[in-house]
Amino acid sequence: MPILFIGHGSPMNAIEDNIFTKNFSNMASKIDRPKAILCISAHWVTKGLKVTAMDKPRTIHDFYGFPEDLYQIDYPANGDINLAKEIRKSLSPYDVKLDKDWGLDHGTWSILKYMYPDALIPVVQLSLDYSMKTQEHFDLAKKLSHLRSEGILIIGSGNIIHNLSEVDFNNMDTLNYSFDWAKRIHKTLNMSILSGDYKKLINYDKEGEDFMLAIPTPEHFWPLIYILGLKEVDDIIELWNDTLVGGSLSMTALKIYEN
Ligand code: ZN
Repeated sequence: MPILFIGHGSPMNAIEDNIFTKNFSNMASKIDRPKAILCISAHWVTKGLKVTAMDKPRTIHDFYGFPEDLYQIDYPANGDINLAKEIRKSLSPYDVKLDKDWGLDHGTWSILKYMYPDALIPVVQLSLDYSMKTQEHFDLAKKLSHLRSEGILIIGSGNIIHNLSEVDFNNMDTLNYSFDWAKRIHKTLNMSILSGDYKKLINYDKEGEDFMLAIPTPEHFWPLIYILGLKEVDDIIELWNDTLVGGSLSMTALKIYEN
């Protein structure tokens, strides 16, 4: 299976028909239909690692002040307890808790509702442990690589450039509307991603002001680190939805696949 990083952007994408959501659907139609999906979402940050392990994960509406339509969305995919147990085993010696409380947050369902609208593929989420360093997330991801050959689609869902306090909400729908620092860092980040030299990305917090503006907090960035950690040496990286919106957000997505 390929691996995907997807920029999910505003929760409004969950009810909008736009170029990004069209591309979510298109991407799913271009790849083999997976047996199950493992999503690492920016919106599940925990102390210690957790993996969702319930038959019927609930749809979590983890945002405030949005139109009522958004709160009505249900994504009724099943969970996969056996897959959760397998992930727990793969990530040993980390003690991954089998979680019965979470479900599917909007980092997951707001993209899957376009990719797999029938919701017939089981979905499991793995949390981001906030006590781990970026390098540790990168290394941890590699322990999941065997899932690719088992027909599991691994998706990292976040946003590479994600500075909400700087967003110009009047220009959320203006494609390529971006501040100068965002334009600069967008180039730098894409170059690092495509060159395979991940040092800058792993040490992003020591790389200066543009990096700090792009990644003021790590949770939307770490899902990318998982996907890059899973990349095999000969895999090809394709960028898609590679657009800035709102001045300080990027929608950039990655498809990484076997040569
Ligand atoms: Zn988000």
